[in-house]
Amino acid sequence: MAPFIYTALPGRVIFGHGTIGQVGEEVAALGARRALVVTTPQQAGDGEALVRRLGPLAAGLFAEATMHTPVEVTRRAIDAVQGAEADCIVALGGGSATGLAKAIALRTDLPQIILPTTYAGSEATPIIGETSDGRKHTQRTLKVLPEVIIYDVDLTLTLPSALTATSGMNAIAHSVEALYAKDANPIVTALAEQSIAALARALPRLAAIPHDAEARADALYGAWLAGICLGSVGMSLHHKLCHTLGGTFDLPHAETHSVVLPYALGYNAPAVPDALDRIAKALGTRDAVQGLHALGRTIGVPQSLRELGMPRDGIAQAAELALTNAYWNPRPLEKAAILELLNRAWEGRQ
Ligand code: NAD
Repeated sequence: MAPFIYTALPGRVIFGHGTIGQVGEEVAALGARRALVVTTPQQAGDGEALVRRLGPLAAGLFAEATMHTPVEVTRRAIDAVQGAEADCIVALGGGSATGLAKAIALRTDLPQIILPTTYAGSEATPIIGETSDGRKHTQRTLKVLPEVIIYDVDLTLTLPSALTATSGMNAIAHSVEALYAKDANPIVTALAEQSIAALARALPRLAAIPHDAEARADALYGAWLAGICLGSVGMSLHHKLCHTLGGTFDLPHAETHSVVLPYALGYNAPAVPDALDRIAKALGTRDAVQGLHALGRTIGVPQSLRELGMPRDGIAQAAELALTNAYWNPRPLEKAAILELLNRAWEGRQ
């Protein structure tokens, strides 16, 4: 076996059905007494229900979490933390709610309990991306790693079908890139394979029956493992392209991942034969790239950047930006080939 380095991330994880019932105990176990619940405006009703459930342990609700963690929202949230004299944060929602909890923790060191309701995986990473003046700044610090994650499969039953599919592909993207990361290691590789297999099993079932509780559990489990992959090893061209496209053309996060993933893997394919074998096996197909295209079609994710509203004349700029401050990548970055990748992804030419 090749030598490797693996750094485990600390954290307590509770997984099951109805586990939201354990939030109060977990707040108390942290030694906290006044939890501020944070969520998005769309999930404010669920946030209010959580405040009621917490009873005297709740310090209030802040339901303004927004995609890409704008610092103005964080400032208002910190005011709410101070006003309510909160001593811990409980986030309910997807990557946007988790991002806000992390942004608060970064500035206050308050402990966090996260109840994820999508497959973004942010709850398992020490990474935070924040937006100010239209620019996203990402950093990695253990200060933002949540202390407790409560996965309650029941909370994901309401995840709309389109978001289930794209958020699931977003998770698969973390695991795919972990398999050929520069700092890949056998632990993360095993998690990545299990993650892709669990999501590939679950997502087609959920496309047919969104309330399938067993498939929901598989998908959430796969998403957690994908989050560990994202938090443990470095990501490559696929994530760089998605960050660039999202930031420059304001494309939606999970949808962009869904479109780009098979094309980015196609670009890297000649350099990562072992990862391709593992991905194909986990997907239950012969060819990893075609397998991802087929999975995307089956579960109904968008098939092109054009559908997401990216202007065609943005392709050259996107290629240029992908080569600027590039992430490490297993295949050297060649401008012409990246332009071809982006053109194909824009057209949806598989
Ligand atoms: P999101 O959190 O913005 O959720 C999308 C929408 O779906 C929101 O309106 C939300 O309220 C709603 N929603 C979520 N769960 C629901 C449910 N179960 N039922 C009904 N509605 C529900 O989207 P996301 O894709 O989870 O997160 C994207 C954000 O997370 C981006 O800002 C991205 O950069 C960030 N992210 C960060 C990391 C990290 O490690 N730092 C990792 C992944 C994503």
